Amino acid sequence: TSFDDVQLTEIIRNNVMLARYDKPTPVQKYAIPIIINGRDLMACAQTGSGKTAAFLLPILNQMYEHGITPPPQNNRQYSRRKQYPLGLVLAPTRELATQIFEEAKKFAYRSRMRPAVLYGGNNTSEQMRELDRGCHLIVATPGRLEDMITRGKVGLDNIRFLVLDEADRMLDMGFEPQIRRIVEQSNMPPTGQRQTLMFSATFPKQIQELASDFLSNYIFLAV
Ligand code: AMP
Repeated sequence: TSFDDVQLTEIIRNNVMLARYDKPTPVQKYAIPIIINGRDLMACAQTGSGKTAAFLLPILNQMYEHGITPPPQNNRQYSRRKQYPLGLVLAPTRELATQIFEEAKKFAYRSRMRPAVLYGGNNTSEQMRELDRGCHLIVATPGRLEDMITRGKVGLDNIRFLVLDEADRMLDMGFEPQIRRIVEQSNMPPTGQRQTLMFSATFPKQIQELASDFLSNYIFLAV
């Protein structure tokens, strides 16, 4: 299998080539068609399996195919507008969020789609300025995302794609209440009206419960 066999639009396929990925890893080979077909997915995959591209490529592909509009860009003279991203990736740590964001930037190159990253630390104003430039996809740790929602910088009303990456690690770190508030008590469209993807190295009971609460008629993939 090569990336030519995966149904990706030209600009995204070209960015895959620029990233020097020649052939899909197993999780990419199986997950990309499932996600392009619009299905919810629970995937058991380890770090290093290529899981990041397995969700980023089909999400960016669908966003691009559906025709993204330029996000609101905030002109200095005017009031700053809230961002309504189409995609949200939740990740446990600043390091993982940054890695996902860097990969998203590569795959979104020249597509006019803008990713942004949010994580905790003394960088709130820097991240707010970055948000003000507009974004279609937010990669975030749960706490900082909630903070930006509270500050009125981000609204989840338009979310079409939600990813929980390393879901088991997020639960181990105690993020379940934050995640549930973000998914169940924000303005995010409910299960079934968005596409939801969960990636986890393990599949304990707590993850199974989260999957049955957040996913709709999902496909289970173990690689
Ligand atoms: P991940 O499991 O998503 O953290 O990816 C692990 C590493 O493998 C990252 O550095 C990716 O850039 C790289 N990678 C992922 N998929 C491929 C591929 N199909 N070909 C070559 N490198 C890849």
